Amino acid sequence: MSDSLRRFLLQGAPVRGEIVSLDDAWLEVVNRHELPDSVRDRLGELSAAALLLAATLKFDGSLVLQIHGDGPVALFVVECDADGDYRATVKLREEAPTPADDASLRELVDVEGKGRFVVTLVPGSPAPGRQPYQGIVPFEGNSVSMVLEHYMARSEQLPTRMWLAADGRRAVGLLLQRMPSTGGTATVAPPAAETPIDDDDAWNRMQQLADTITRGELLRLAPEHVIRRLFWQEPLHAFDERQCRFACTCTRDKVASMLRMLGEEEVEGIVAERGAVEVRCEFCNLPYLFDRVDCAELFVPGVSGPGPSLLQ
Ligand SMILES: [Zn+2]
Repeated sequence: MSDSLRRFLLQGAPVRGEIVSLDDAWLEVVNRHELPDSVRDRLGELSAAALLLAATLKFDGSLVLQIHGDGPVALFVVECDADGDYRATVKLREEAPTPADDASLRELVDVEGKGRFVVTLVPGSPAPGRQPYQGIVPFEGNSVSMVLEHYMARSEQLPTRMWLAADGRRAVGLLLQRMPSTGGTATVAPPAAETPIDDDDAWNRMQQLADTITRGELLRLAPEHVIRRLFWQEPLHAFDERQCRFACTCTRDKVASMLRMLGEEEVEGIVAERGAVEVRCEFCNLPYLFDRVDCAELFVPGVSGPGPSLLQ
């Protein structure tokens, strides 16, 4: 199945894995943005990585990965939830030269050493004490997978490895994670295999096997074939697949709230100059048009509809 994420466990050892493959769901992003190849491919890798991470978290809200850059890319953003809905966008720095087709992540966002990686967890249902969690980590590594691996080692303290690949048609990611074990017994594994597996050995072996996958294979092979190609000798326990899809959460109310935060003077200035305000969603490109009357209503007390608190 395309546009899906599947999870698996190594039986008898605290190692779990996931593989995500985005086809049509990735084209939804590709077709909405005109991006240099290297920027598009890194965004695809970050999209796959976000969905993989979200599936490892016990969390009912959304996960937002942002990379703030000082190079040709000012900002990468991917938002997703554990159900497999995601959206992604990029902000290019206009004055910067077009990056090379094979530019690394570091060459796109960390030219002067000011790149930052920001992870935000937004609770799904607002409740007292449920605040968004935000972690900001310095940029470490040359690729999306290395940045994410460093982050997981620091914040979750779970050894995590990722193999990511994207082009103009697909975005694919494979994750392996070593789970915490208690007294040598896996906390999440199904009943142990008949012969106990040495945990260190299993973790090292699974990584070595996954290290043999090439970018070309990740992009060409169906997810089940990637798993078979790498781990055919391993006792894997597979879980259900979940569907992934591009889903934008923009609404007219959120745009209205954003315009209110911009302020009456600023909005009136735009209306005077252009006759109306048109805001395009930076994720899905949907245009929201506010004519002169709509703009005036934004700032009338009582007619204003939902307030800025709805802004996410
Ligand atoms: Zn949108």
